[in-house]
Amino acid sequence: MTPPFDVAVVGLGPAGRSLASRCVAHGLSVLALDPRPDAVWAPTYGIWGDELGGLPEAVVRARVPGPELRVHGNYPLARDYLVLDNAALRTALPLEGVQVRRARLSDADVAALRAEARVVVDARGARPDGLVPDDPAPAQTAYGIVVPADAAAPALQDASALLMDWRTDWAGAAGPGGTPTFLYAIPVGPDAVLLEETCLAAAPGLPIAELRTRLRRRLLARGVEASVLDRPLDREVVRIPMRGRGRRPVPGTLAIGTAGRGGNLVTGYSVAHSLARADALAQAFTTGAVPRVADPVSPADPLREMGLRALLRLDVPGTLALFDAFGRLPAPAQRNFMSRDSDAVGLAGAMWGMFARMPPAGKRKLIVATLGPSVTRRGAPAIRPV
Ligand SMILES: Cc1cc2nc3c(=O)[nH]c(=O)nc-3n(C[C@H](O)[C@H](O)[C@H](O)COP(=O)(O)OP(=O)(O)OC[C@H]3O[C@@H](n4cnc5c(N)ncnc54)[C@H](O)[C@@H]3O)c2cc1C
Repeated sequence: MTPPFDVAVVGLGPAGRSLASRCVAHGLSVLALDPRPDAVWAPTYGIWGDELGGLPEAVVRARVPGPELRVHGNYPLARDYLVLDNAALRTALPLEGVQVRRARLSDADVAALRAEARVVVDARGARPDGLVPDDPAPAQTAYGIVVPADAAAPALQDASALLMDWRTDWAGAAGPGGTPTFLYAIPVGPDAVLLEETCLAAAPGLPIAELRTRLRRRLLARGVEASVLDRPLDREVVRIPMRGRGRRPVPGTLAIGTAGRGGNLVTGYSVAHSLARADALAQAFTTGAVPRVADPVSPADPLREMGLRALLRLDVPGTLALFDAFGRLPAPAQRNFMSRDSDAVGLAGAMWGMFARMPPAGKRKLIVATLGPSVTRRGAPAIRPV
């Protein structure tokens, strides 16, 4: 018997909604399921200006030309960085014509949808059963506050935005030790700035309480008023499992976004990739050429695994040397390092460029971190790719 729908999409985050929207635009019949289908996404999503694709400028909440990387030197990055307006982004990904069901699905429920749809897509995100306490998986964690732009000025120190400020004024008198973190300081509108202490990757993720303490120490050291820190306009907690779901998809279904392999192992980002991938997948569904996996394993994957391994294991001076070298890369190589969609040749070139620009002590640390025995910096179990 022919199933009633062409496509069922489970989960309406950025990955699921963009795919459902493109499928219906291509004339497919679509069922979408999510426990809160009307909820506006809460995270502050950033993408690069050149990743906006066909989306209208209306989806941009803030556009920052040349955000800076600061390590031992200051490096303006030659690209616009965009903070997305999540409500406008949802409007730009309309679901008219999609049958939307309010439901929370287990793996068995997802498998059962094969009776209802020719293609079943799992877009339930990295943790469909909720966050796991003491999750040992490598994760990016961050704690941020939104403050008025004038109050944030001492933190920005004349930059329009700080994509990554790796300087160690979070450390106080004892000096930096343990897990490296950076300040992400990005305007989220004309009058407000998000100031976020971020651990790019640790296994397990660095606790939010530690990030909160570091952010406070750093901002006070820069002259931000304590009263501003005590009463921010908003707060954000970030927890991104670097390997997404990290399990095989439910048999007979296609996993996309962070439910699948849509995330970038090195940056934790996935939104730009999901937005870019949706139309090609929808087109494939119209022709009946449904791929076996949405984001197949590629030769660039082992390189990204190496990158993640280095991030998990380098100490503070080693991490600073790595990102100082990143700041001195030519812009196309920087793009290749950060993009989920760069190929192996481009990524290898960028990684080699960083290695070549590191001082000898940094090079030694990077070699040990990448190729040495499998013990993480914090003594957690060996790093195992899934
Ligand atoms: C605070 C924060 C900030 C981030 N910032 C960025 C950024 O700037 N740029 C970037 O690229 N990435 C960012 N990320 C990482 C990542 O890209 C996001 O997590 C992104 O939301 C992943 O999109 P997704 O659609 O794959 O999954 P999700 O956004 O997690 O969406 C999953 C959807 O599935 C639904 N769902 C969950 N469980 C079930 C279930 N059992 N049954 C049915 N539906 C279910 C949920 O309701 C949700 O709608 C950030 C993450 C966080 C937490």
